[in-house]
Amino acid sequence: KLKSSNLELELVNRLLQELAVRDGLTGLHNHRHFQEFLAIELARAQRYERVFSVVILDVDFFKHYNDTQGHLEGDRLLCVLAQLLKEWVRKSDVVARYGGEKFVAVLPETTREGALAFAESLRQRIADYAFPHRETQPLGSVTVSLGVATYPENGINGPALINFADQALYRAKRQGRNVVC
Ligand code: GH3
Ligand code: MG
Repeated sequence: KLKSSNLELELVNRLLQELAVRDGLTGLHNHRHFQEFLAIELARAQRYERVFSVVILDVDFFKHYNDTQGHLEGDRLLCVLAQLLKEWVRKSDVVARYGGEKFVAVLPETTREGALAFAESLRQRIADYAFPHRETQPLGSVTVSLGVATYPENGINGPALINFADQALYRAKRQGRNVVC
């Protein structure tokens, strides 16, 4: 009996652990886990004098998608996008849902040039992907805008890097969206 309740406890613990680090809608890592991973990556890069990059991406005109297709279809779109992101990043990268229709990836050992190339390929693949109802979107396709920041050149702590990537993302929006900055 003791053995079986120990097993149960272990299963419940594992489930709780999963719930704590996963986003409920998409199953990606959540904001909290992203912050933890970023802190570890930062400490590693400082200690061993390495580089890494952060990429923030946000769905363009997502409100329009919700308004024309309904909130449930909007949820579905986020799930498909999350799945693609997970497939398209390296096993050593971490991709998380930052919140709403905003996602973030941490790319260890990746320079500014590498991160820009990665972001550009994501942008292209998403714009080309046959998401349901994509033709109703303002740009004729489901697109994302992306902002890139690299340690240490664009910031030497977590908030500075996120802030830099966020500013770049908003520059991309201002340039008309479906753009990497
Ligand atoms: P922009 O191109 O500037 O990014 O415009 P946008 O329409 O994507 O951005 P805006 O901030 O105006 O609207 C985002 C919308 O995303 C509003 C919000 O209700 C919706 N949203 C946030 N989280 C979810 C979600 O989990 N599911 C769904 N269906 N919608 C969500
Ligand atoms: Mg948006």
